[in-house]
Amino acid sequence: MQGLNYTFARSAEEAVAQFAGAGGSARYIAGGTNLYDLMKLGIERPAHLIDVSRIDGMDAIETDGEVLRFGGRALMADVAYAPVVRDEYPLLSQSLLKAASQQLRNMATVGGNLLQRTRCMYFRNGAGSSSMVGVYPCNKREPHSGCSAIGGVDRTQAVLGTSQACTAVAPGDWPVALMAMDATIETLGPQGARALPIAEFYRLPGDTPHSEFNLNPGELVTAITVRKTPAGRRSTYHKVRDRESYAFALASAAVAVEMEGATVRAARIALGGVATTPWRSSAAEAVVTGSTLTRELAIQAGRAAFADARSGKQNAFKIELGARVVADALIIAAERRA
Ligand SMILES: Cc1cc2nc3c(=O)[nH]c(=O)nc-3n(C[C@H](O)[C@H](O)[C@H](O)COP(=O)(O)OP(=O)(O)OC[C@H]3O[C@@H](n4cnc5c(N)ncnc54)[C@H](O)[C@@H]3O)c2cc1C
Repeated sequence: MQGLNYTFARSAEEAVAQFAGAGGSARYIAGGTNLYDLMKLGIERPAHLIDVSRIDGMDAIETDGEVLRFGGRALMADVAYAPVVRDEYPLLSQSLLKAASQQLRNMATVGGNLLQRTRCMYFRNGAGSSSMVGVYPCNKREPHSGCSAIGGVDRTQAVLGTSQACTAVAPGDWPVALMAMDATIETLGPQGARALPIAEFYRLPGDTPHSEFNLNPGELVTAITVRKTPAGRRSTYHKVRDRESYAFALASAAVAVEMEGATVRAARIALGGVATTPWRSSAAEAVVTGSTLTRELAIQAGRAAFADARSGKQNAFKIELGARVVADALIIAAERRA
């Protein structure tokens, strides 16, 4: 049986120092709603857990001039219900409220949500499918072992950003909304503090699907910031899933628009449930920007978002579903009051 050290950090600096002192197999733990799950499945085997859920001040939700700042250990529920988020950034609030369950959102943090691992059932070795538990090759779990999803059961796999090595979907809803808002991720690591645009935070799978985040070992997510924008109010997070709650997205869209009458002055469109990373679609944004928004144009934008999509045997439906989710989200966002 493997031993496990468990320590608490009271400050971000202390967490980073503990990580440096713990050797290679330490992990930060916040709500534990993903990491414990993966430890039970044998996918993660840390020798040292550093609990960051009590770090002073790292749960703050602040508005600082033109910037919204969410501490890395702020709870999903607290961020979702914060009045400034609920009233002025519906897409951020909805992306959290449409994720997981209330019990989970009361435990899970917005930093942990960014770093949760895929729900691809081959990565999870069949967990989640009673007929499938076994040992499946997975390049994300075991580098260079192969991908069982390619040619296997692929109904929930990605159609955008895939590679010959991996088609696993990025699972989080919140990162999709953050992608539409051009959020910045603030970190503290052994080399000091840095701020990373969310577009640079996630890595495409390519030949190295096991390497998912542009984070250095021991780097702690201390905060997430979003610049205030007039598009915040006219925004939505639209999520389609197999059941109406407590399920991951089959296709989702985070959309924020600035309107002048019926004309779209600016649009921000990001997709979830269909890609290997939270996916910004500049192609869809270009279709609607400067034009009068009609249902037909919204569908055209949705189709543009999926122009480069590649499906397997069972997931082709995501291309049409995803296009319609983008179209619906555009209409919903544009109809909101500025
Ligand atoms: C049944 C179920 C359904 C779910 N449905 C959804 C859903 O529909 N949509 C959705 O988006 N999510 C869903 N989730 C996932 C859930 O939202 C995540 O498990 C949760 O957000 C992770 O946050 P946490 O604080 O518990 O992270 P933890 O489990 O504590 O950590 C997750 C990872 O992040 C790392 N980490 C945590 N905090 C930091 C930090 N500050 N800096 C650096 N690294 C850190 C850990 O080392 C670990 O690798 C679901 C989960 C379950 C169990």
